[in-house]
Amino acid sequence: MPTINGQVSNWYDELPAYRPSLPGDRDADVCIVGAGYTGLWTAYYLKRADPSLRIAVAEARFAGFGASGRNGGWLSGLVPGDRNRMALQHGRDGVVAWQRALNDSVDEVIDVAAREGIDAGIVKGGTLQIARNAAQAARLSAEAEDELSWKVDGIAVLTKAEAAERIRFANVVAAYHNPHCARIQPAQLARGLADTVEALGVDIYEQSPVTAIDAGRVTTPHGTVTAPMVLRATEGFTARLPGLRRRWLPMNSSMIATEPISDDLWDSIGWRGRETVGDAAHGFFYAQRTVDNRIAIGGRSVPYRYASRTDVDGRVPDATITYLTEVLHGALPQVRDVPIAHGWCGVLAVPRDWSAGVALDKATGLGWAGGYVGHGVTATNLAGRTLADLVLDQKSPLTELPWVGHQSPNWEPEPLRWLGVRSMYLAYKVADWHEARGRSSTSPVAVVADKIAGRP
Ligand SMILES: Cc1cc2nc3c(=O)[nH]c(=O)nc-3n(C[C@H](O)[C@H](O)[C@H](O)COP(=O)(O)OP(=O)(O)OC[C@H]3O[C@@H](n4cnc5c(N)ncnc54)[C@H](O)[C@@H]3O)c2cc1C
Repeated sequence: MPTINGQVSNWYDELPAYRPSLPGDRDADVCIVGAGYTGLWTAYYLKRADPSLRIAVAEARFAGFGASGRNGGWLSGLVPGDRNRMALQHGRDGVVAWQRALNDSVDEVIDVAAREGIDAGIVKGGTLQIARNAAQAARLSAEAEDELSWKVDGIAVLTKAEAAERIRFANVVAAYHNPHCARIQPAQLARGLADTVEALGVDIYEQSPVTAIDAGRVTTPHGTVTAPMVLRATEGFTARLPGLRRRWLPMNSSMIATEPISDDLWDSIGWRGRETVGDAAHGFFYAQRTVDNRIAIGGRSVPYRYASRTDVDGRVPDATITYLTEVLHGALPQVRDVPIAHGWCGVLAVPRDWSAGVALDKATGLGWAGGYVGHGVTATNLAGRTLADLVLDQKSPLTELPWVGHQSPNWEPEPLRWLGVRSMYLAYKVADWHEARGRSSTSPVAVVADKIAGRP
């Protein structure tokens, strides 16, 4: 079988039939733009809090078309931001509370999925972080310490043997386990959520691309939604909206999935705990054992397209599939003969200071959430609950968290933006190459690249 390229992602056996588009002008109490996790969670918590609210969601393609239907399926407590920088701006206690709220949100998603009958293949096996050379090991050790300093409980540094007991990756020199992560089937969560909110009475209009967002009004080619509250939940696609070109950078992330793997081969690999796995390279990978017993693994190949362009239905260059296949075989040589079934990509949003935010301007009724820097699967739930509190004007512990109202500076105009991101990833490649050849500490090339990019 040839490798399928694009078609949104391997998380869809076939692409869903479209819901009807906006049938003409209408009004609503709340209009949400974008039916990914952010938009859907917000609709869910609003409707649960006040069933009388009339909520309209306008979606350009279909619910789960964006990153929410394409991601690596790490439902993790990772903070979508730079904890140190946020602590300088908003205080350390606030950031610890934010971290705790994210760890709790992992369980909140699991609970809601169980309560609402959403089968998203969820297994909470934590995440295994591995290092495969000395410099990576030094970074990993510092990272584990850092987690402890932010009061993340349950971090366990593992010996090589303990790591291999979980999963037999090649050349692991150090590892740690963080319990605050679950493996999910991303598209099933997105589709299940969409069905759930629809059953609660939320109107989701698909194939309804929004061309302008103004106070009190959302414009599509099919009509206008008039609403006192308008919430933008467009993440990596935001740069396409008028006036928002430099707000968030659409960073590309790509994935491949193998064909299902035989039980014999799984016996030689392990991975019985369904942990998600990542490594400590600068051009890191992230992986999961899927519900249907494939390996899905992702990384950065083409990190950014000039002028914030996005992919076409997840299509990737052939070279990306080759690159990710090499990454997979380097980490797990046991699966060399397993065919690659699918390759795809999607966009996530990166703010200039690498820190996400949630906000509602009471004066205009305009709100937004996003900029999750690739850690949005859990953070979108927290954002949805927070936006719901803000819309309902309810002060809560969530509305006190430091990312509420956080504003990031704009990105530089082109061609600086393109040159900057391309150079950063080139530098990471060089740094990974040096480190693989025996450096004992992080390559200075990567340190400089991080500084220029503003990356934590
Ligand atoms: C390949 C990949 C792997 C990832 N892996 C992980 C992971 O393992 N763990 C993790 O935490 N995060 C991961 N992420 C990030 C995570 O998927 C996102 O942070 C999260 O899904 C964001 O959800 P969202 O609803 O804000 O955005 P999206 O899911 O992108 O939804 C935005 C929606 O808005 C719609 N839209 C855009 N513009 C318009 C418009 N003008 N009008 C109407 N609708 C519009 C889009 O069609 C889309 O459906 C990954 C991302 C990618 C791309």
